[in-house]
Amino acid sequence: MDSLQAILDRGQDIVFFGGAGISTESGIPDFRSSAGLYATATPDSPAPEYLLSHECLEHDPESFFDFHRTSLLHPKARPNRAHQALARLEEVGKLSAVITQNIDGLHQAAGSRRVLELHGSAQRNRCIDCGQVQDMRFMLDSTGVPRCPICRGMVRPDVVLYGEPLDQRVMDAAIEAILACDVLIVGGTSLNVYPAAGLVNFYQGRDLVLINRDPTAHDGQASLVLHQDLGPTLGDAVDSLLG
Ligand code: ZN
Repeated sequence: MDSLQAILDRGQDIVFFGGAGISTESGIPDFRSSAGLYATATPDSPAPEYLLSHECLEHDPESFFDFHRTSLLHPKARPNRAHQALARLEEVGKLSAVITQNIDGLHQAAGSRRVLELHGSAQRNRCIDCGQVQDMRFMLDSTGVPRCPICRGMVRPDVVLYGEPLDQRVMDAAIEAILACDVLIVGGTSLNVYPAAGLVNFYQGRDLVLINRDPTAHDGQASLVLHQDLGPTLGDAVDSLLG
């Protein structure tokens, strides 16, 4: 079996497709693991699925924004070795895109330029009436339902909520990147969440690498499966390759 370093070495068009597992090492809890948001929700508070839904934004925006500010925004989180390794691979021309299910913006903070955010970004917020964009700091500093300084419209996070469709342009770009690449690295995702998880089925390249703490449904199709933490695994491989 080839090592990760050998696969990265021969890859000429690498794509990384990642989920929450890449950011847990930066201190951002994922949704579904034992320490994740769902497990830590209290019994008398609404379910996180509801608090992350379009329905909640419409009918109980105060609760929506309270949860958003306290549970989804992590202004102190910094990119870890996995984010940095991917940015380096792009910088040397080996990686063409990062596709992410995360909304934390840590790939861009590490220096990645082509990041396809399937679920949007909590770094961006948008007035639903005039479209004016605000940063994360604006959301953190707001209270109750944030209002646009220009038109007083509601300012909402630029993220895809439960009950909302994915951005088709982002999905199309992700499919195109996966169809064209010769190495697909899937990391930090259990591949359980559709439709994003179905993206892997578009892959036709040579090497599929799965790096995830727990087994996934696609382990049997991969040329390399590593049940390890992403930061040290990708970090060491890229350091060895690029020096
Ligand atoms: Zn506005």
